[in-house]
Amino acid sequence: MQFQLLLEDIVATLRPQLGLAGQVANYIPALARVPAAQLGIALRTCDGEEAHAGDGTTQFSIQSISKLFTLALGMRELGEALWERIGREPSGNPFNSLVQLESEHGIPRNPFINAGAIAVTDRLVSRFDARAEMLAFLSSLCQEPVVVDQEVAASEAATGFRNIALANFMKSFGRLDNEVTAVLGAYFHHCAIRMSCLQLARATGFLSRDGAHPFTGAQVLTERQARRVNALMLTCGTYDAAGEFAFRIGLPCKSGVGGGIVAVVPDRLTLCVWSPALEHSGNSLLGMKALELFTAKTGLSIF
Ligand code: GLN
Repeated sequence: MQFQLLLEDIVATLRPQLGLAGQVANYIPALARVPAAQLGIALRTCDGEEAHAGDGTTQFSIQSISKLFTLALGMRELGEALWERIGREPSGNPFNSLVQLESEHGIPRNPFINAGAIAVTDRLVSRFDARAEMLAFLSSLCQEPVVVDQEVAASEAATGFRNIALANFMKSFGRLDNEVTAVLGAYFHHCAIRMSCLQLARATGFLSRDGAHPFTGAQVLTERQARRVNALMLTCGTYDAAGEFAFRIGLPCKSGVGGGIVAVVPDRLTLCVWSPALEHSGNSLLGMKALELFTAKTGLSIF
């Protein structure tokens, strides 16, 4: 398949729509300043072929895409014990919602809503320097140094009232082992990591290769664990729009409010799209359209 031509075609098709609809995330001031009219796409196949188009090598704030890597580290470090304090069901609620936490005794529905990622981060903070470990993990996966945007991290910390509430709520139920400030410090830094579509297409490669590292082939996760991450991406990876994603795109995806979305075609390739303007659930509007075009044109889907 001519992936390079295909990605260029998708960008050319969508470019006239840039800046017309959707809104850049505005609840984090440093993200509200990002120009909306950008669109990037990149992929890497299991054989190592790469392609990118538009702004595919521009770095952006990965935001909730980091939750994928937090989960992978949590699975690697804790195995089955990870699931003691976290569920595996879609929440059907916005990613930063507090409502279910009360009735469900401080146990988040899944690792991809904010409360879930904060709970997994707590377990990581108990084991090692979670900020440094995450950067080392991502740098190894994409074979390039990965860094945190300190301005975004500070902006999140200054305005993260809901996340502070979520963490305190879980702490009140005895579900966090560490101090709220330590856990949130790591969580905000993970969200504020900057990467490009191409770097994310590389870094997620282990999810299309049954857990094997995209460059070295070493097992990052077991085959079973990698499949489970994909299952959770399909059911919970795009907030309360996961049903719409399965319906329109048909691939396991994980999105972030920076406008990035990663998608996995098991045994074939990993793909990342980025465009900062979001729809109402917090998913990239043109990113969703780009993924829909990609699956329509290639026929690639898990269904
Ligand atoms: N840093 C963001 C937050 O905690 C991440 C949310 C997201 O990308 N959905 O609110």
